[in-house]
Amino acid sequence: MKVKFLKSAPSIEQAPEPNLVEVALLGRSNVGKSSFLNSWTGQKIAKTSSTPGKTKLINFFEVEEGGKKYRIVDLPGFGYAKVSKSMKREWGRELDRFLRERFNIKLFIHLRDARHPDLEIDRMVEEYLNSIKRRDQQVLIIFTKMDKLKQKEIARLKRQFPGALLVSNTKKRGFEEVKRRIAEILWGEERDEESPTGGEGPEAQGERKLKKGEG
Ligand code: GDP
Repeated sequence: MKVKFLKSAPSIEQAPEPNLVEVALLGRSNVGKSSFLNSWTGQKIAKTSSTPGKTKLINFFEVEEGGKKYRIVDLPGFGYAKVSKSMKREWGRELDRFLRERFNIKLFIHLRDARHPDLEIDRMVEEYLNSIKRRDQQVLIIFTKMDKLKQKEIARLKRQFPGALLVSNTKKRGFEEVKRRIAEILWGEERDEESPTGGEGPEAQGERKLKKGEG
């Protein structure tokens, strides 16, 4: 997996051309998002720090893996305010607009802390994502810090959130499954034969959508 930082942008207008499939990464601050990014890509591309960042920038990384290209879109951590009236207010106008309008996001990864799996803020994010996601987009919940749980608690979490994945960034556990699931969602298995675009790469698909959007 080859990863390179592309750019940071405050809004959709400054984002790179939407000509590649994107995976958006969301999570409450301190959930382990930077650590996840580093473990997932096997590279130290994200700074891990416990100091809350104030700038709400969207970071774009370009990934090349198995001859396929996509982007990772790292969104600012949320949940600094004690009470959040709405996700729109939480995100701010630009981030809300980005998430709604960025058509080439195919997968939203919602990171949650395995020790606090059902926080109010995460329920809001879940609802928000489900309300904005289109039919060609998916949401994947990944719990971080699974190393803090006992086997029994892991089993309970899996029952409570079917389909969710669990990782440990510190112990580097769970990432094979994460990569497998992401590849499945992005590329599918029968995609080459059965996709209506006849097996074109995401670049061509993105460009077509882009042209449609412009027309
Ligand atoms: P971010 O604010 O979401 O980017 O979170 P960071 O990646 O900076 O991590 C926040 C804190 O949680 C750091 O002290 C990390 O070392 C710790 N952390 C992150 N992931 C894990 C994990 O899987 N297990 C454990 N035990 N600690 C973790």
